[in-house]
Amino acid sequence: MVYINDKLAHNHATTLHYTLGDHFPLPSSADPQPFPYDCSSTSYSALVQLYARLGQLPTCHLLFRRGMASSSQCRFGCYHAETVHHLFILCPQFEGYRQSTILDIQRITLGLVESISLAHRDMLMQTIPTILAEESILTWSMGFNTWYYGHSPDIAKDFPFLSIRLVHSLSKSWHTSFIHLAGRIWGHVQRSHYHV
Ligand SMILES: [Zn+2]
Repeated sequence: MVYINDKLAHNHATTLHYTLGDHFPLPSSADPQPFPYDCSSTSYSALVQLYARLGQLPTCHLLFRRGMASSSQCRFGCYHAETVHHLFILCPQFEGYRQSTILDIQRITLGLVESISLAHRDMLMQTIPTILAEESILTWSMGFNTWYYGHSPDIAKDFPFLSIRLVHSLSKSWHTSFIHLAGRIWGHVQRSHYHV
């Protein structure tokens, strides 16, 4: 797996180039993460997030702009350009993956916040069903939902009643879920590449 990741990184590094107008978003203003990319499966996700941040994931939209695809339309049949945002946030092809991640986040979060008041717990839990969606009401560093870049929402700002310890624990567990989901979705996209 490490070998495959190295090859993948090398291939991407030698075949993709920086495009005018792409930019590297600021890192999340939430807490720094304690090295969650230290095994091969999460390393793959790190690559996915890195290329997403650089605007270099080979989506149909990017390939079309470079003359390497006949259409920018989503390969899964949506009447929408296959942008990074579309694939990770909107594409119905991955709704099942997103729902299963939301269930994981709900389960883990409930376990972490057992000690807070019911009212505060409800306030927190109500935001989770849309945590991966465009309509997320949480505070994201770029002003819109960028979980797929490996960003976490600003939990301390959105839930000022939480202790620093809980903010750290939630940030870490949500971030880990985002990492796995990014790798899962892009892995599926890559496996679908040859059926375009
Ligand atoms: Zn789609």
